[in-house]
Amino acid sequence: MTILDGKKISNDIKNEIAAEVQKIKDKGEKVPHLAAIIVGNDGASLTYVGSKVKACERVGFESTLVQMSNTTSEVELLEKIKELNENPEIDGFIVQLPLPPQINEQQVLLAVNPDKDVDGFHPTNFGKMALDMSTFIPATPFGILELLDRYGVETKGKHTVVIGRSHIVGRPMSILMGRKGFPGNSTVTLTHSHTKNITQITSQADIIISALGVPNFLKAEMVKDDVVIIDVGITRVTDETKPRGYRIVGDVDFANVSQKASYITPVPGGVGPMTIAMLLKNTLLARERHNI
Ligand code: NAP
Repeated sequence: MTILDGKKISNDIKNEIAAEVQKIKDKGEKVPHLAAIIVGNDGASLTYVGSKVKACERVGFESTLVQMSNTTSEVELLEKIKELNENPEIDGFIVQLPLPPQINEQQVLLAVNPDKDVDGFHPTNFGKMALDMSTFIPATPFGILELLDRYGVETKGKHTVVIGRSHIVGRPMSILMGRKGFPGNSTVTLTHSHTKNITQITSQADIIISALGVPNFLKAEMVKDDVVIIDVGITRVTDETKPRGYRIVGDVDFANVSQKASYITPVPGGVGPMTIAMLLKNTLLARERHNI
């Protein structure tokens, strides 16, 4: 069994990006600049955004964090997005989700200039992805593709089962694994909360990508020998023995499933760090596009 070490691979990618940034600096050009908007003070969202800003510093990017209060109106947020769209200093930006209930998420995603949409959530970019056109691939699915690629995990002709159909992970993942090319060329089954007899489906899978957010959902008896497991789930579970009072748990019963798997991602240290690395990669790409 091989651990798909997202921590190591994401570090490799950050080093590669830092080397690119150094070349840009040596030429006296402007370094990539990522901005992040966060609305409200949700603990997990603040942690994620903080990690993204820290990662920018690590590779030599400029970063801007825009913090808005929990009572921000949709109009105010759209105004801020317009500002970032029009600011030539900013190559790409993200709006951290989830948003407070008074704000319509779809309106917000539509307002982001697709050329600066480094999360790849705008319908233009999502459509391009579905049509195999060059675009920003959402960071988490992009990170999973990169892990499969760097470990040379065969995907052609395999049966890939994706659990969860969110717009940010499950659905794009199902499209990408079924596309022509590598990683891809899989036969894909997309499952969700209405799927009947899920064990019957997962036990036939060569590759399982789990993104539902239910701790230890995927058990050893639900998978076959030599399965490839990608665990996207991140759930905070109360744990008084930890300094923070919680620990992070994935969707997969790692201790038992890893006994049967050929490759498996750990949680933490698997998909999570890859997501941040690929956001940086998309920002580098955005800068290149603006300079064409
Ligand atoms: P989400 O919006 O929370 O949706 C969960 C999906 O799981 C839905 O499609 C839901 O089906 C499905 N589902 C729920 N119970 C199910 C069941 N019993 N059997 C089969 N499917 C079931 O999804 P998300 O935003 O992609 O998040 C999923 C998990 O990934 C969360 O733990 C999140 O924190 C984590 N995540 C991690 C990263 C990372 O960087 N590692 C990034 C993003 C998300 P319905 O559509 O029918 O409701």
